[in-house]
Amino acid sequence: MANVVVVGAQWGDEGKGKIVDWLSEQADVVVRFQGGHNAGHTLVIGDMVYKLSLLPSGVVRPNKLSVIGNGVVLDPHALASEVDQLASQGVAISRDNLRVAENATLILSIHRELDALRESGSAGTKIGTTKRGIGPAYEDKAGRRAIRLMDLADLPSLPEKIERLLTHHNALRRGFGLPEFDPQTIYDELSSVAPKVLPYMDAVWRLLDGERRAGKRILFEGAQGALLDVDHGTYPFVTSSNTVAGQAATGSGLGPGAVGYVLGIAKAYTTRVGEGPFPTELFDAVGELLGQKGKEFGVVTGRKRRCGWFDATLVRQTVSTSGIDGIALTKLDILDGFETIKIGVGYMLDGEKIDYFPASQGAQARVEPIYEEMEGWTGSTAGARSWADLPAQAIKYVRRIEELIGAPVAVLSTSPQRDDTILMKNPFEG
Ligand code: IMP
Repeated sequence: MANVVVVGAQWGDEGKGKIVDWLSEQADVVVRFQGGHNAGHTLVIGDMVYKLSLLPSGVVRPNKLSVIGNGVVLDPHALASEVDQLASQGVAISRDNLRVAENATLILSIHRELDALRESGSAGTKIGTTKRGIGPAYEDKAGRRAIRLMDLADLPSLPEKIERLLTHHNALRRGFGLPEFDPQTIYDELSSVAPKVLPYMDAVWRLLDGERRAGKRILFEGAQGALLDVDHGTYPFVTSSNTVAGQAATGSGLGPGAVGYVLGIAKAYTTRVGEGPFPTELFDAVGELLGQKGKEFGVVTGRKRRCGWFDATLVRQTVSTSGIDGIALTKLDILDGFETIKIGVGYMLDGEKIDYFPASQGAQARVEPIYEEMEGWTGSTAGARSWADLPAQAIKYVRRIEELIGAPVAVLSTSPQRDDTILMKNPFEG
């Protein structure tokens, strides 16, 4: 049995929630390995709707162990409030079903404030972040001055760590003309939340090693999408973590051999929130229609998502950078009724045809998509549960996508309902 990694193959919001939920039912352990509460996963189970940002999706199901790995940046207040929210919906969280890596970096109020300040336009490049403090927290981690979960278990040592952190942050704040941070405020903020989060703390690398050796099925749940990866994405318009599948190992403390099958989730068209390049973006009525039919508004920030045609060149690239074995194609039903459908199959860059997305910011902004146009379909794919239920033209569209991206469609999702799914291959069966 293979352990499975699920990653977004575009810019996030590909509909990972439904697929991860379906897979988590078959898993013993569900692990988050990057990002933080910038993610937004909606799970619909029966008539209950759960909105998760930080907790792994397995947490709403009985007898699953959910793990937040070291690669995640953890806002302890967000964790405490998500746990309370779930408790009010009848989901009890305890050490029996949740563990958090002792070496996870904490997001503090100084990070949220700095994120918002940079986004206000008065300082730095506007990225269109979720303003959750994700970037500044990862900066402190790489800068070796972060406060980590385990530090909350040793309160007497905290003032020295806060001083180290503030030496950097107060210099920045002076530069922005802002008042300095008081170390006592941060100490109080952390010491008050410590009892709420410490019960879940564990040496996650050791825990997962044990689970793996015991033959348990592990599902690694990626957040955001491969095109928001800090190395492989549309830099600088990216998140601050590695979102590609390789991070599943680093961000949870297991070796690369722990990962068996990489499932990429891709929407049958493309969306993006925040700033940054988007070659197949539509600014016309078709783009509006995709947004309306697809209900393209962010779960975390409520922002309207930008919409455009499927860009096969980009997804082919994420198939490479994440080592994707198969794709779960979602929201095919949103394309029902379109007379014609376009697919981006390459780009023109400065008069030359290219078959990859270039790395430089300038080139990414200049590329013009080359389209292939296909006839749409009049019948409905919504709720289809087998290939026989699909209009012939819709099958043609899916087959063409497979050809262009160089990966098979393993799962086809035809509505938000979990049973409206066509399964070609179960990722857990390798
Ligand atoms: P940050 O992760 O808040 O720093 O935001 C950086 C970029 O990632 C922005 O363009 C955000 O809109 C985007 N982003 C972060 N989280 C998500 C997500 O869960 N879905 C889609 N985009 C996201």
